[in-house]
Amino acid sequence: MSAARPTLLLSVDYEDWHQLVRRRVGASNWREAGPALARQTEALLALLDELHARATFFVLGMAARAHPELLHPIVAAGHEIGCHGDAHLPVHTQTPEEFASDLRAARATIEELTGTTPVGYRAPAFSITASSKDWAYRVLEQEGFAYDASQHDSPALRDRAVASTAAPHRLEVGNGDALWEFPVAVWRVGQARLPVGGASYWQGLPTPVILRGLTEAGPLAGLYLHPNELDPEPLHALLPSDATPAQRAHAKLREAQRNGARRRAPGVLKAIARRFELIPYGDAHARLDGSA
Ligand SMILES: [Zn+2]
Repeated sequence: MSAARPTLLLSVDYEDWHQLVRRRVGASNWREAGPALARQTEALLALLDELHARATFFVLGMAARAHPELLHPIVAAGHEIGCHGDAHLPVHTQTPEEFASDLRAARATIEELTGTTPVGYRAPAFSITASSKDWAYRVLEQEGFAYDASQHDSPALRDRAVASTAAPHRLEVGNGDALWEFPVAVWRVGQARLPVGGASYWQGLPTPVILRGLTEAGPLAGLYLHPNELDPEPLHALLPSDATPAQRAHAKLREAQRNGARRRAPGVLKAIARRFELIPYGDAHARLDGSA
């Protein structure tokens, strides 16, 4: 009975792994479009279609500019377009002004390519920290965002911003204004935290543990994927011919880490979709905001 299934929020941090890994290792060609995002997007859209699931795609501005033709099929399939910022730099390393201009750059690109204005935001690497959250949430609200989806109570994240509740909640930002926050799914057992909402974590966890954790994670908990986790082919960073041995070794390490997550993600997502209803964040936001 589908009506009885609990609901989770499904998202994709829509970025080009090849751009990010090349920048990470210091390769000179990092801005160029990577060779695999089209193939990854096709696989991802096919899987979501098979699962009858719609998702929020938090689009990274610089990836969208490198692949302007890839956003239309996502919109046409009925998915929500959100914002993952523009340059994928940690929020807590920016000034409020730099953060605002990163949001504007991303939104201008997304509006131009999709005709829609995103109202939801996911920080790169969940980088709204406890020490940056007060100004960061205020900037998001001032820049016209209605919800944030960056809280993730994972022990891997230092100085993470988390609320006392795992449920969606309102963040007061001053002057009576507020944003909605939708935290990523985490199974909290006493003081222990098991992050079960991200495909990056699924590679180390048995599927029954992931399903149990998602059941315990609280209402409308969030899931996130990356396009590279759906790549039907192994990830392989294409570095320029002048790349150093150290850059090549660093890239190999990143490939190995991501290929582990890639192998597990489709099967785990299918198991989750049998147990839970998967909806975009915007649908949950409309429900909650209408009743607030
Ligand atoms: Zn990201």
